[in-house]
Amino acid sequence: MEQNLLHASKLEAVGRLTGGIAHDFNNMLSVVIGNLDLLKKSIQGNEKAERRVRMAMESAQHCADLTYRLLTFSRRQALQVSTIDVMSLMPSLLELMRRTLGENINACVQADEGIWPIQVDRAQFEAALLNLAVNARDAMPDGGDLTITVSNQAVEEGKPLPSGDYVTIAVQDTGIGMPPDVLEKVFEPFFTTKESGKGTGLGLSMVYGFVQQCHGRVEVESEQNVGTTIRIFLPRSHEIAEDVSQKNASIATPFG
Ligand code: ADP
Repeated sequence: MEQNLLHASKLEAVGRLTGGIAHDFNNMLSVVIGNLDLLKKSIQGNEKAERRVRMAMESAQHCADLTYRLLTFSRRQALQVSTIDVMSLMPSLLELMRRTLGENINACVQADEGIWPIQVDRAQFEAALLNLAVNARDAMPDGGDLTITVSNQAVEEGKPLPSGDYVTIAVQDTGIGMPPDVLEKVFEPFFTTKESGKGTGLGLSMVYGFVQQCHGRVEVESEQNVGTTIRIFLPRSHEIAEDVSQKNASIATPFG
């Protein structure tokens, strides 16, 4: 089967499976959390028991957070597609990234003049870029540069993409890069090299799913100890972009 189709059908199967499991799991989890809450009230004054209940509650909350993210990952029907001007989103998105990434990551945006509008679900678009930025941060434990380059590109017949006009967004880091065996698997759902609790392996799958939905493409270029560039191609829209410059970046939940 062609690689793209294989990824898309795997992603869909995982989406359906995780959606179903996460939904049932969430219901059971609310029973656990509710009972822990009652228990907490009945053991007031017993410090040792209180500490144990607090620990159980914290774990249950982590599980609830994970199921929430899995439900977001598998939820396809809630798309709100609109025509946007990427550059009008960038100031608030860059601010959100800087807050998320911390001080030792130097994040900046470079862009051509007159970037074409695109048609996307804004929250998904922001979550995708935030996922890429969080991965870049994780690849630069001692700090480094994160450069987002936005450009217009006309693709000719015969390239891997259908010919037409695309807006490309390249997210480049100066991090540890990836060895070939990791590079091969990066878009597989649940593939992660991060230690348990730090990675879900869903970040790049989400980016992949988002780009597929937009009829675009995503490419990865990586060199060990030099860095990684992830480039997404999104088809140009010929509609007029909505004015979103006054709205803040939505609180997108990165998976990474
Ligand atoms: P997660 O971040 O939860 O591990 P992802 O799907 O986002 O899941 O990424 C999968 C794996 O791809 C990561 O665990 C990491 O090994 C690799 N990876 C992703 N982005 C980068 C990057 N910018 N630099 C180096 N490795 C990366």
